[in-house]
Order: sequence, then C-alpha cells, then structure tokens
Amino acid sequence: MNLIASIKECIQAGHPVTVEQAKELYESATDDEIQALSLIAKARFHKLDEATYLIMSIVNYTNICVAKCSYCSFYRLPHDKEGYLLSEDDVSRKVSELKSLGGTLVGFNGGFHPKLRIEDYAKLFRGIRTRFPTLEFYEMTVAEFMFSCKVSRITYAEGARILKDSGTKWVTGGGAEILNDSFRKRHSPGKYSVKDYFDAQKEILDCGLGSTATMVIGFDESIDERFDHLNVLRDFQSMNHNNLASFLCWTYKPYNNELGGAEIPTIEYLRWLGICRIFLHNFRNIRTSVLTKNTDALIALKYGANDFDLPTEDEVTQKAGASISREFDAILKVASDLGFKVRHRSPWPTRIQ
Ligand code: SF4
Repeated sequence: MNLIASIKECIQAGHPVTVEQAKELYESATDDEIQALSLIAKARFHKLDEATYLIMSIVNYTNICVAKCSYCSFYRLPHDKEGYLLSEDDVSRKVSELKSLGGTLVGFNGGFHPKLRIEDYAKLFRGIRTRFPTLEFYEMTVAEFMFSCKVSRITYAEGARILKDSGTKWVTGGGAEILNDSFRKRHSPGKYSVKDYFDAQKEILDCGLGSTATMVIGFDESIDERFDHLNVLRDFQSMNHNNLASFLCWTYKPYNNELGGAEIPTIEYLRWLGICRIFLHNFRNIRTSVLTKNTDALIALKYGANDFDLPTEDEVTQKAGASISREFDAILKVASDLGFKVRHRSPWPTRIQ
C-alpha cells in the first residue's frame, strides 16, 4: 500500500499515524494530497463546510520578564523604563473595550515577572471576573503559571489548587512554541524544560482546570523538532483523556527581537496545519491563527482547521510585526467566500471531548 493510502486508512480508523509517515507526507506530498487527507481527518469531528469563531483579546498585563527568550519582541527586564504592570482598573478598561466590540473571551498574557506570586494573579483574575461575569477568561499561560509557582515556592499542584479555589477555570497552553529541549536550550534556556511543561499541564488538568495546546512555527526549528512537539503533545493528550480542549498553531513574527529571520510562506503554514490535523487524531479542535496570518489563516479551514479567533489586541505579536484588523465583517466574508458557513460560538466548556 502506498503512503497516501495507508495514511488514509489510519485516519478513517481513528488510529494515529507514525512520525515517519507524517514526515514523509509533509516532505513529499502535494498540497492537494495533504489538503484531502486533512479534510478526511477533520470530517471525523466536524462538517466540512462549517467553521466557528469568537471575538477575543489578549490583555498583556505586564511586559516585565526575566526569561529573555531570543525570539521575543515584547519583554522588558525589571527596572527598564518601558516596563509596566497594569492595575486592575487598567485591565478592566481593556476588557470593557473588548466587550463593547462584541468579544466574549479574554486571554491574559504577561511575562515571567519576578515578584508576582500565584496569589497576586488569583486576586487580579478574581477582581476582573467579578466585574465581567458574562465573559470567559484564559487566565494564565502554562509558562507563566510555572514561573509564578517557582516564585511562590509552591508545587504546580498547589498553584493549580489556589487558582481553582479562587474561581479560575482555564490556564491555557500558551508559551509552548516548540516543545523540544534542544530548541528550548537554543532560544529560551530560562523558561522551562519540556518535561517541566507537561508536569505543569498535568497538574492543571488533574485539578479540574481547563487547558489547551499551542505551537509556534517559523523560527529556525528543524522538521524533526516540530514533529517532536506534535508527538509529545499527542502522547500527553492520550494519557490525559483527551482533555486539552484545542490545538492552535501560529507563526513566528521576526521583527524587533534578537533572533530575527524571515516569516515563513503562507503555504508552509497551511501544509503544516494540515499535517497537525492528520497527526493529532485525538484533538477535536484545530484552530487557525488570524492573529499572525490575517485572512490567509482562513485558507487553513481547507487544511483541517475548524475554528479561529477574531483578535482585537495583542501586544506580544504586534511588537513582533503582526497587524490586527477589527474589520470583522470583512474577515468573515473571506471565510464565506471560501465556501464556509461561519458561526459565532460561545467559549467552550473546560471538558469538551
Ligand atoms: S516569550 Fe514570554 S517568557 Fe519569553 S521573554 Fe517573551 S514574555 Fe518572557
């Protein structure tokens, strides 16, 4: 049996394809072949002519960070005059703006602030939730959570429990970039090891909080490093009852940081997202990134993605070169013109599989 036929058989049976199969597919198949297989995989969970979205913002409450990742354009070291830490009122103003634009979800994203303990985050999030009871919040990324637990000198289990008891529902999988230790040592040695990342994710899920999976491509990572990321993620998902709610892949923006480089072509992103849909057989929701690919991201709905955000702000990616449009109708028309019935959705529950 040839490669395409054997992968098709795996997908239809709901079985995982091997890294070797997926790598060969990525390296040798045509765009049409990857697209066709990704749609077979998507059809296990979703109608092929439908897509969902929500309007959301990423509120960056601090840019102070000590991790010094080479690919980051956002952070400022403590004592830098451009460093900031927003008050609850400042954060509220941003959330109000999102709400006035029809948004329903806020993701909080800051840096590795050396003085913020888990209780500080819990207090801020509780205050914001009280002010905006109808909105959903992704309250920390796993990476921030890990660092704050270290600052607080508590275990991840204790940190997750403190957040849960204060009303937190989500600590999401942001800050993952490429989950491969050699990549991490090259570009982000102060952030975490891959094992550490998944130890934290496990405690978050075990505590009953929701979480997600993310990936960023287009640095200088090798294809093998990308597949390491997908493989360890798929294994983690299988060992944890498929409880990660979604997988989102976006692209590195190379401006205003130490690493630099160039953006990858759109077709590389589309092919890779197709591979992600095929490989991650245990993820229902594969999301495409309007945040970094603008309307080109919507073509990925034809490469296995089923959902996207319409972002209203995110300083992290904008500092690195991303541009955000609030012309929501125009963006949605692109999806309609591609043949999709687009539906605004509510934020997902923390357990959706
Ligand atoms: S990517 Fe995140 S952890 Fe790394 S330097 Fe930037 S803000 Fe800090």
